[in-house]
Amino acid sequence: MLTPAARAIFLAFALAIVVACTGDSEEPGPGDGGAVPGIQTATPALTATPVPTATPVQIVGVRGAAQLDNPVFPSLGNGGYDVSHYDLDLDIDPGANTLDGVATMTVIATANLLAFNFDFAGPAVSAVEVNDEPAAFTREGLELTIEPANVIPDGSEFTVRIIYGGTPELLLLPDFPIAMGWTPFGESVMVHGFGLAWFPINQTPSDKATYTMRITVPQSLTATATGELTAAIRSGDTSTYVWEVTVPVGGVAFAVSNSELDSIPGPDGLNINNYFPSGSPEALKERFDIVPEVIELFNELFGPFPYDSFGITFLRGPLPFDGFSPSQRAFLLSTGDRLIVHEIAHQWFGASVTPILPSDNWLAEGFATYAELLWIEHTSTRDLSDDAARRMRVGISNTTRPPAIANSGAEVLDRAAYIRGGLTLHALRLELGDDDFFDVLRTYAERFRHSAASTADFISVAEEVSQQDLGQFFDDWVYSRPVPPLD
Ligand SMILES: [Zn+2]
Repeated sequence: MLTPAARAIFLAFALAIVVACTGDSEEPGPGDGGAVPGIQTATPALTATPVPTATPVQIVGVRGAAQLDNPVFPSLGNGGYDVSHYDLDLDIDPGANTLDGVATMTVIATANLLAFNFDFAGPAVSAVEVNDEPAAFTREGLELTIEPANVIPDGSEFTVRIIYGGTPELLLLPDFPIAMGWTPFGESVMVHGFGLAWFPINQTPSDKATYTMRITVPQSLTATATGELTAAIRSGDTSTYVWEVTVPVGGVAFAVSNSELDSIPGPDGLNINNYFPSGSPEALKERFDIVPEVIELFNELFGPFPYDSFGITFLRGPLPFDGFSPSQRAFLLSTGDRLIVHEIAHQWFGASVTPILPSDNWLAEGFATYAELLWIEHTSTRDLSDDAARRMRVGISNTTRPPAIANSGAEVLDRAAYIRGGLTLHALRLELGDDDFFDVLRTYAERFRHSAASTADFISVAEEVSQQDLGQFFDDWVYSRPVPPLD
């Protein structure tokens, strides 16, 4: 159903991180996105509520918005603040299927706050502190509402510490076809999709942040996560793995499994830190020997790799997708070249430049799908990639929805996002010629690096670089229902 290609679904999120691939997709979050027909975006509203019993010096506070105007996932994202850093201390026991967490966020207020929300669907919260003082909190649905003892002044930096623990559950959002979050399998566990399933987060690509994750697991297991491993500390019968993400990202993920590191050199000094199940045969590891060449190709076509390191965690388990790609790491369950290529392309499109709204998800999945054709072209000929594009065009219905108009969670992951989105890029290449087309991709990747972008943003870059009015082209390809011919 949601996987157009035979391969499956990859969730890549960038923010979401969630996302998947080849038939896969990702999920963006809300934001303030610019003019996308049919979708109203707006700045989060703040509801003014006077602070009771005001004294002459008391600041009037407001309640930060509990949601942004994301038409597909309306409860995601919050207003009134901006998170700069998440510090996640996670104690995981896969045998008991439990997670005990302490999440400490460094936050900047963008209003005088008497209350604010995080998105959270994880296990029981036992305490919340704001600036090291106990704070009142309530939970309802996906919202964790926090009321600090004192109003937080606009512009000030503050810390929020949330202590929680128990058995997280898989998260299934209304109308969204894939359960996300905490996923045990065998003696292992992994998390994928929206982070709110396992830690409190402002779940929107418009609020990216840096991360520190300290993941404590039984000594027989390894925690692999997004970012770079900066320490592995043994203590008694556990090990603590410290993973740092030093550029702003929309989400993170990890897996706890019996795995071993296998590093290979990447282009331009990039470290590629792959993890495989312990005892994996060399033949399996060799399937990933293409990774440096894929990155080198995309460095040329898309611009410099957006992160300081990369790695693949290969897993064996009954998980609902083939792979997904948060920043700096792809989690894969099979080994096909196109899957590997697709997930690596998400490092540029999805992880670094994150679609700002669900209806912009073709900017992740369409781009990663088209990257597969670019790899075919690199390893064979342009004729073969052109043929592949023609087959994709023949294989989709003429009434496949326009990629930039999505009204449900299911549509975020459909063939329109992957296939019609990818074909849109191929058609744009035919329209502009190679020089301008790849200049558009590089300019877009550079301008919105470590940020979020809308369909309108991409169109704007394409028109600027090509010096052409592409209004009719994009109306036909991403906003109108009939699928245009390719030639
Ligand atoms: Zn994908």
